[in-house]
Amino acid sequence: MRILIVEDEKDLNRLLEKRLTFEGYITDCCYDGAEVIEYLETAEYDAVILDLMLPGTDGMQVLRTVRSINNQVPVLILSAKSETKDIVSGLDAGADDYMVKPFDFSELLARLRLITRKKVETRENTYRCDGLEVDTNNKTVRRNGVVIPVSPREYAILLYLIRNQGTVLTRQQIVDNIYNLDQDINSNVIDVYIRLLRKKIDVGFDHKLIHTMRGIGYVLKWTE
Ligand code: CA
Repeated sequence: MRILIVEDEKDLNRLLEKRLTFEGYITDCCYDGAEVIEYLETAEYDAVILDLMLPGTDGMQVLRTVRSINNQVPVLILSAKSETKDIVSGLDAGADDYMVKPFDFSELLARLRLITRKKVETRENTYRCDGLEVDTNNKTVRRNGVVIPVSPREYAILLYLIRNQGTVLTRQQIVDNIYNLDQDINSNVIDVYIRLLRKKIDVGFDHKLIHTMRGIGYVLKWTE
C-alpha cells in the first residue's frame, strides 16, 4: 500500500517515512504543496498524509485542487491547527480524516487503516476471498483459518491483489503499488513473487485464487 507524505518539516517527514516503511507501507515524501498534484499524477496512492501549513501551496488549497480534478485518493490531514473551525474546513473540503499534532503514531496507523478500507461498506480491516484472509490490523495471512507466513514484499503484493480482487492488474501496476519512486524495478520481478505466493496460498487447495492473464498480468479471484 502506497502513501504520499506531504510535510515540509524534514524531521517529521523522515520520521513518518521511517515508521510507515517499518509498518510495510511504501512511501514517497513531498515537502512542497505546489508539487502534490505532480506526485498524484505520477503514481497511484492509497492515501495521502497532508500537512496544512506548507510552502508553495497551502494544504487546504492542495486538498481543494485534488478534489476539483476529481481525484478521490483518501486524505488524512495532519496539522498543528487544532481549532474546531480548521477541522471543519478540512473535512468539508474533502479530507477523510483530521489529526492534530502532536499525535500518537498508533492512532495515525489506525486512522490510515480506516481511510484505506477499499469499500465504503467495509467496517473492518480484513480482506477476504474464499477462505483467504488478509488481516491488516496485525498483517497476517490465513487460508481456511491457518496462518501462512509471508515476507513483507509478498504481503504487500497479496494485499494489493485482494484489495482489487476480480480486477486484472498489470505487472507495472503491482510494481507501482509496492515500490516507491526512488526504486527502479524491472516488472518481471513480480512473476517471481507471484510464484512464491502461489506456493503458499494456492498449492494444496481445490480453488486457486491467483490467476495469470497471459500477456496482461494477474488477478485474484474465486472461480469454480
Ligand atoms: Ca508545516
